[in-house]
Amino acid sequence: MTRNDQLSRLLPQRFANGTQIRRFAKPCPRCGGTVEARDMEGQMMMLDQKLFLAAHAACPHCDHRFGVACAITADKRVHRVRLPMWLYKLWMKSNARRGVTIVPADPQWQGEEDDAPPPVPSIADAELSFDDAIVGRFQGEAIPEACEWQGRRYRFERVVQPGLPAQCAAHEILVRAHLVYALEDAPQPA
Ligand SMILES: [Zn+2]
Repeated sequence: MTRNDQLSRLLPQRFANGTQIRRFAKPCPRCGGTVEARDMEGQMMMLDQKLFLAAHAACPHCDHRFGVACAITADKRVHRVRLPMWLYKLWMKSNARRGVTIVPADPQWQGEEDDAPPPVPSIADAELSFDDAIVGRFQGEAIPEACEWQGRRYRFERVVQPGLPAQCAAHEILVRAHLVYALEDAPQPA
């Protein structure tokens, strides 16, 4: 999962409802020409009935290179992933490693507001002790790799989109309004 492949070699991908994604293409942002999966290198991951895709594309018409980060749902709609590429890749990697099914916050993937769980309050920094090691930065702010809260260790899991209600699983905590940490010794989903 962590190595890069020509995307066309990872197709077709099949959803549980039988829908198959046989081809994938994007218009080149520079020349508008069609860039096919054979001109992209990256990763695909089927998770929670969404096909996540992170790739580097090279336009065969004008040689322009650009990043592709999106998720395809079973209705074949393509949704943009609004995360920096490095963070998106980190997220894919951590999901592949741990086999968890967590979807980044995106308005297009959330149900009507009435169905959404209530927003989660952040844990106050004063209650937390952070590791010195950082996994990266988000909006200029360092992201500590792990932290401790109420005597238990939590590991950085993902970033919540600013402006959207944060949603956490039972074994997760929200820190600084947009960082989600997961309990290190939480039981893994089967
Ligand atoms: Zn082009």
